[in-house]
Amino acid sequence: RLQQPELDYEAYHGIPRGKQHRRALRLAVLTREPDNYSTRKLIEAAEHRGHTMEVIDTSRCYMNIRAVGGEVHYDGRRLPHYDAVIPRIGASITSYGTAVVRQFESMGTYCLACSEGITVSRDKLHAHQVLARHRIGMPTTAFARSPKDSGNLVDLVGGAPLVLKLLESSQGKGVVLAETPKAAESVISAFQGLKADFLVQSFVKEAAGEDIRCLVVGGKVVATMRRRGKPDDFRSNLHQGGTAEPVRISKTEREVAIKAARAMKLDVAGVDLLRGADGPKVLEVNSSPGLEGIEKVSGKDISGLIIEHIEAKVAPKPPRPKGR
Ligand code: ADP
Repeated sequence: RLQQPELDYEAYHGIPRGKQHRRALRLAVLTREPDNYSTRKLIEAAEHRGHTMEVIDTSRCYMNIRAVGGEVHYDGRRLPHYDAVIPRIGASITSYGTAVVRQFESMGTYCLACSEGITVSRDKLHAHQVLARHRIGMPTTAFARSPKDSGNLVDLVGGAPLVLKLLESSQGKGVVLAETPKAAESVISAFQGLKADFLVQSFVKEAAGEDIRCLVVGGKVVATMRRRGKPDDFRSNLHQGGTAEPVRISKTEREVAIKAARAMKLDVAGVDLLRGADGPKVLEVNSSPGLEGIEKVSGKDISGLIIEHIEAKVAPKPPRPKGR
């Protein structure tokens, strides 16, 4: 089902139709959750600025891949050219979702999150390698394939306490703190028994169960929040019952968040960092950050800023006439 909302230039700009500064854009959001807060807010922000936004179910897109004139089809028809596409690809369909985004990219459509950025940020191992290559601080992280090397891994990150993370983890579900060498050993052997890939990370104790989400839009940190886990939980994910509050961040933290988003080639990103004793440590860069928590906590209209970023990318304001 495609939603094609009405244009409403006048309500937003307060200037007559046809006299608005920018042309109206044809936008699409790729999501399987048309009714969630982030999708609704993005549609609202786009319409408010006189644009149209269609909601496209990523999993229903199909494509013909050819050298000239690739297309994306949907429900029996070819999708039109969009000025920009906002991918909000869920973790369960990363591979297919990024193929759809790639197709839009090859058709010359601006994608708010590029396929490479989504792919890399979703793969914890790959993401850590990219961050490390850009010299971005992170907890010491180790990974091995063979069970024979588990002991070596633990040594590499400096022994217990340490954090073990399933590579597939999201929302903090597959993240475990092993406080002693014995605990580490038994969790590792349990993961191995399940043939699950995991990484081992030094535990940043100073973070004290808190992390900081920095929302980066177009190379700027536009909002921040501090998340705190339930008492006795070292994980601060809101999905695990954590709470969030506004926070001010340092210049270094700001720079690190911006650098991390850039390293992932993401124009919009949710960068999670821990406050380590020797500076910020990046945990994760999210390519489709949820907007609800951060908009409510920071009071900022992030969806509006995202649409403005798209406007600046695809429909720059015309230069001012000379002499004014
Ligand atoms: P997920 O992708 O499943 O959310 P994260 O890597 O973001 O996994 O970890 C979930 C939470 O656990 C983080 O928000 C943070 O509060 C805590 N955490 C993760 N890694 C560490 C670490 N190395 N040291 C201290 N706390 C950590």
